[in-house]
Amino acid sequence: MQKKSMRDLDLDGKRVLVRVDFNVPLDNGRVSDDTRIRAALPTVNYLIERGARLILCSHLGRPKGRPSPVYSLRPAAERLSQLIRRPVRMAADCVGPAVREQAAALQTGQLLLLENLRFHPQEEANEAAFCRELAGLAEVYVNDAFGSAHRAHASTAGVAALLPAVAGFLMERELNFLGKALADPDQPFVAILGGAKVSDKIGVIERLLSTVDRLLIGGGMANTFLKAQGRTVGQSLLEVDALGLARKLQQQAGDRLLLPEDVCIADRFDAEAQTRIVGVDAVPDEWRILDIGPQTIARFTASLQNARTVVWNGPMGVFELPPFAAGTFAVARALAELPQATTIIGGGDSAAAVEQSGLADRMTHISTGGGASLEFLEGKQLPGVAALHDA
Ligand code: ADP
Ligand code: MG
Repeated sequence: MQKKSMRDLDLDGKRVLVRVDFNVPLDNGRVSDDTRIRAALPTVNYLIERGARLILCSHLGRPKGRPSPVYSLRPAAERLSQLIRRPVRMAADCVGPAVREQAAALQTGQLLLLENLRFHPQEEANEAAFCRELAGLAEVYVNDAFGSAHRAHASTAGVAALLPAVAGFLMERELNFLGKALADPDQPFVAILGGAKVSDKIGVIERLLSTVDRLLIGGGMANTFLKAQGRTVGQSLLEVDALGLARKLQQQAGDRLLLPEDVCIADRFDAEAQTRIVGVDAVPDEWRILDIGPQTIARFTASLQNARTVVWNGPMGVFELPPFAAGTFAVARALAELPQATTIIGGGDSAAAVEQSGLADRMTHISTGGGASLEFLEGKQLPGVAALHDA
C-alpha cells in the first residue's frame, strides 16, 4: 500500500514533527559516522524549502528510560547544523513546558532537535499521554526513520494516530525498493543469504522462497545446511537445533538452492590463523569454515548473470577479518557489475560490508534499516509504516 507523502500536504508555516533516525555512533562527543544524518537531508531540506518549522526527534543508543549525557543527541545537532549550514537548536528534553515554548517560538525554516526520546520509558511503552505531548508540539508528523519502523513506540507509531502522518523521502525510498522486491520482483529474481545464523533468518528464507528463482546461501548459516546434508563441519558455527529446519527448507527450495562447494577454513577464529581452501566434504575436525571458496564464488557469480532483481542479506564469511572477506567482497563486486539488475542490500552487517568493499555507490539500494529491513522482507507489517496514512 502506497503511503501519503510530504508532497501531499501544505507545509507552509506548519510546525512539523519529524521522526528521524539519528542513532549514530559517537566518539568523544562527536559523531563518528554521519551516514544516518545525511540520509535524512532530502527530507530536512525539502521541509525547509517548503517553509515548515522543523521539530526533529530521534532515539540514540539504549539509555533505558533515564537521562544520560553520554546518549545526548547534541553531537547530532552539531553535525546536522554543519551539513545544512544553518543553526539547529538543541532542546534539553523532548517533552515538557520548556520544549513546548521552544517549539512554539520556531520561525519558518528554523529547526529544533529534541533530546533523546528514550530518556523517557514512555517512549518505548508507547504511552498515550507521552504521545499526546509529542503530538502537541506540531501540526504534522513525518516519519523518516525506517530503521525504527519495526518498533511500536510513541514516536514511531503512537503519535501518528494524533496528527496527519506521512512518510519522509527516506522512508518512501525504502518502501518503494523493498516493497517492489517483495511483491513484484523483476525476474529472474536471485536472493543471496548469509550471516551468522539460520534461526535469525528463517522468516526471510521462507518468504523469499515463494518468489525466488535462485537462492544462494553462504556465511555461517550455510554450515547448518551442509551438516544437514551429512557433511562434517569441524569447529564451524553450527545450529544443531536448526538441522531439521535446514532439511525442510532445502526440500522446499529444490534445485533453486545453491550452497558452497568449497570453503576457506582456519585452524582458529583469528586474523593470524592458518588457512586453507578445501571442498565442503573435507573440513578437518579441528578446523572451522570462515568464508566461501573460489569455486563457490565463481558459481555464485555465474548464477547471478541474468538476474533482474537481487536481494542480498548476510555476509558470505567473517568479513571483519581480512583473510575471510574475499567471498563477501567478490559477491559485492559481482552485484556491482550486473548490467541490468536492481540490487538491494538489507541488514546492518551486510550494509557495512558493502561500504567496506568500496562498491556501495554501485548498488541500487542499501537499506538503512537493519532489523526493520529483515522484518519487512519476512512480509511482516511494520507498526511504524502501518501507522502512516495511506495515499
Ligand atoms: P546482517 O546484519 O547483514 O543481517 P548477520 O548479523 O546475520 O548479517 O551476520 C553477520 C555476521 O555473520 C558477521 O559478523 C560475520 O562475521 C558473521 N559470519 C559470516 N560468516 C560466518 C562464518 N562462516 N562463521 C562465523 N560467523 C560468520
Ligand atoms: Mg547483523
